[in-house]
Amino acid sequence: MAESGMVYLVGAGPGDLGLVTLRARELIQRADVLVYDYLVHPDLVDWVRSRCEVIYVGKKAGFHSMPQEEIEALLVKHAEAGQTVVRLKGGDPYVFGRGGEEARALAENDIPFEVVPGITAALAAGAYAGIPLTQRNTSSSLMLVTGHEDPTKHELQVDWPQLGALKNTTLAIYMGMSRLPDILKGLQSGGLAADTPAAVVQWASLGRQRSATGTVSDIVARAAEAGLKAPSIIFVGDVVRHQESVDWFEHLSLFGRRIVVTRTRSGNSALRGKLEHLGAEVIELPLINVVPAVDRDMLVEVISELGMYDWIVFTSANGVRIFFEHFYQAFDDIRALGLLRFACVGDATAKEIERHRVKVECRPKVATAEALAKAMIATGSLDSAKIVTVTGNLNRDILVKKLEEARAIVDTLPLYRTEKLDLSENAAAHDFRERGADAILFASSSAAEAYASQADSLQLSEEAKQPLLGSMGPQTSRTLKELDLTVDFESQAPGLNALVDALISRLNES
Ligand code: SAH
Repeated sequence: MAESGMVYLVGAGPGDLGLVTLRARELIQRADVLVYDYLVHPDLVDWVRSRCEVIYVGKKAGFHSMPQEEIEALLVKHAEAGQTVVRLKGGDPYVFGRGGEEARALAENDIPFEVVPGITAALAAGAYAGIPLTQRNTSSSLMLVTGHEDPTKHELQVDWPQLGALKNTTLAIYMGMSRLPDILKGLQSGGLAADTPAAVVQWASLGRQRSATGTVSDIVARAAEAGLKAPSIIFVGDVVRHQESVDWFEHLSLFGRRIVVTRTRSGNSALRGKLEHLGAEVIELPLINVVPAVDRDMLVEVISELGMYDWIVFTSANGVRIFFEHFYQAFDDIRALGLLRFACVGDATAKEIERHRVKVECRPKVATAEALAKAMIATGSLDSAKIVTVTGNLNRDILVKKLEEARAIVDTLPLYRTEKLDLSENAAAHDFRERGADAILFASSSAAEAYASQADSLQLSEEAKQPLLGSMGPQTSRTLKELDLTVDFESQAPGLNALVDALISRLNES
């Protein structure tokens, strides 16, 4: 009998990755099939395992989303095939998310399912725009209401005059931007005072969050002035008064700034996280792709004669990762490494080696092939030494040449290849071309090189903001200059925090 499938209707929260539940994360990581739509943060989709099938059913510019019945049929089909299906929705699945309809379709087809709640947009908008949703003595109820009547035809009229007559109530209106003037008129005809405070919060919880406050009589104009559109939550009620005094998110030092970080290897999310915690909108540009490209014969030779080598040299964390995967396939005892000495460049590479409780004996301060060769020569151990360098297709020749000049016997073990990523269809690249950014941060020379190699695919449109270029340190700055790029600011000390400090002081200057 085929194992029975299961569907999880999962809330993805309002946007910020930190607001995703642990349960949601665990299920995304286990899914065989992930079905998601518009308003789900694209990074969540990266959490899936490599063999998970990912299906987008949301709206894309110019296209309609997949019809609801088709989505339901899709869930049923995959579950009946025995798969674990995660249906991921923005916010909470049961708050204007049509989760109820999907649950019913599953129940009717006898498909087991579970519902995982998420933080709905109104809660996030309140927290991140400084609007407490209830308040002792003035606001004792909260109403979540849809301003968009007719998601698919069966018209259900919201009685706006009746809502306008409610006392001590906070209204949180979803999907209401296109009909806002009518909605406010309706509320007022029921008795809502024109000077009742109101607010609009777009893209709540994300670095691109923007908000406007005012009263029922001027909020339409204020929101238009601020350029606010969907997706937004509209608040109406006395609680909006507190916004001035309890706002925290929009006061963060990088709030309102768009910062680009390049993704040339895993590990950049640390930088992204730091920037987001300071309120920035982060665009992560993927520039290159690392694909395993193992020379099998060479691998077998090296692994079977590991004991013959004096040094093993790594130039990237990817190399370390792939090497150890193969090592553990061949051996179940770390001592098979024998007395092999480890050398590497870069923090991330060293960390990846040390995860195996192996000490890195040689590591230059500056992360370049030349510096690595120099540091190894300085150990005085290279004459007639056998060395294996684990590399990709970039920058390998110079290292080998220098080591051979020092009379070492060098084998190279190619394990991966670095490829230029096609950016024509990439969402982050598209966003960057259209809107530009306040700054781009280069955390390494290779990031600068990858960026320059993609210059043609990253041409900014006329309206786009010209970014400042920031560098991690002297080495990266040198590379940027060699590539004819201007260095607008440079980190004053090693480490990501110093880079972020340099960014903030440069932005404050201008
Ligand atoms: N299930 C979702 C709501 C889906 S309806 C939830 O629980 O949040 C889509 C509407 O949600 C949008 O039109 C907008 O009104 C609101 N919305 C979703 N994400 C939002 C965000 N980050 N900021 C402001 N409003 C958001």
